[in-house]
Amino acid sequence: MQVPGSTLLSPEHREFRVICRKFVDERVRPFVSEAEESRTFPPHLWRQLADAGLLGLGFPEGLGGSGGDVRSVAILSEELARASGGIAITPLVSSYMAAPHLVRFGTPAQQERYLRPVLAGEQVAAIAVSEPGAGSDVAGIALRAHADGDGYRLKGTKLFITNGGIADVVIVAAKTGDGDGHRSITTFIVEQGQAGFTVGRPLQKMGWHASDTRELIFDDCYVPGERVLGERGRGFYQIMTAFQAERVVLAAMAVGLADASLEAATIYARERTAFGRPISTLQAVRHAVARMKTQTEAARLLTYHAAALIDAGEDASEEVAMAKLFAAQAANEVVDQAVQVFGGAGYLEEVPVAMHYRDARALRIAGGTDEIQLEILSKRIGL
Ligand SMILES: Cc1cc2nc3c(=O)[nH]c(=O)nc-3n(C[C@H](O)[C@H](O)[C@H](O)COP(=O)(O)OP(=O)(O)OC[C@H]3O[C@@H](n4cnc5c(N)ncnc54)[C@H](O)[C@@H]3O)c2cc1C
Repeated sequence: MQVPGSTLLSPEHREFRVICRKFVDERVRPFVSEAEESRTFPPHLWRQLADAGLLGLGFPEGLGGSGGDVRSVAILSEELARASGGIAITPLVSSYMAAPHLVRFGTPAQQERYLRPVLAGEQVAAIAVSEPGAGSDVAGIALRAHADGDGYRLKGTKLFITNGGIADVVIVAAKTGDGDGHRSITTFIVEQGQAGFTVGRPLQKMGWHASDTRELIFDDCYVPGERVLGERGRGFYQIMTAFQAERVVLAAMAVGLADASLEAATIYARERTAFGRPISTLQAVRHAVARMKTQTEAARLLTYHAAALIDAGEDASEEVAMAKLFAAQAANEVVDQAVQVFGGAGYLEEVPVAMHYRDARALRIAGGTDEIQLEILSKRIGL
């Protein structure tokens, strides 16, 4: 197998990619069409992902982790997304966007009760920050947590929550004070099915069809004090810290979607004939594919670079923002061009490039929009 971005990866990373690709080809790909049609993540995959050690990458072994680092998670993300963005995002949110909050800020008792089953594929996790009135503006959330005896009562609504309907454990950001949101947000662990917590119907999305996305409603939902996650009033900073690796995972998904579309367009261009010759001999098509390759590889290098910096324990805020911004935009251009190379066949819903086209769009929004990445960068540049 060709090894892209090799200068930023160790031999172990390259071996790990081979393992991931085999897993995805054998265990995931056969279920993609069914998952897209039924708009459901194949539930049997949880156990298989866990058994292969793919839900615990980068977590301490003592907590049920399976070794690896952020680059390993990026490789997994890329390989899963090559098959399906909707399938990919489901375990990626559970293990690599929600669970890290439990690792970083959870007490040993919380980790034992909530983290271990998630890494073992027995339970699913979600992270609920966005609301109908606040997405980019995390500090502007309105969901309140009022102190009540030893615990809190949550009141308000979350929106666009990935895994919302299938999660056993939801990490919920709520305001615990009246002041500036930066200093008055606290995160809580909420269990599915508890009183005062209801899940809305699945949101019908443009893409990520196999992913479950919901509105979550909290109506005086009582959460005992031992389920406060981290420090009271520090939730905003906890969320911002977790965004670093989360955005690398999303950038890597973009690389995977782009790479799969590039590969499909290359094969199609060789096979498809027009005016008596393969379209791959037409310069317009050849150059389009060559540009797709360049965009994909540039996105990959930025993504691995950001991941490698996090792995080295360095501040990667700028690199993460650039990777998320560039990879998401590059993926959207690459999938669009892939559909163009396919012509009419690219417009059929069941064709993989059409699915990648649908799936790529979310990556410019979820986990921080393009504009938010540009804002982060502008500030870092000193503007
Ligand atoms: C498929 C999907 C899955 C998601 N999963 C989750 C999840 O699991 N958990 C979760 O909490 N959230 C989730 N989200 C929500 C996602 O994080 C938000 O949609 C995103 O952060 C944008 O927020 P918004 O939709 O409220 O848009 P807004 O914040 O209202 O933004 C609207 C527009 O204004 C622009 N804008 C806003 N502020 C600025 C600014 N300061 N400078 C320049 N432009 C700005 C934005 O870039 C955007 O173009 C998901 C979203 C999608 C689409």
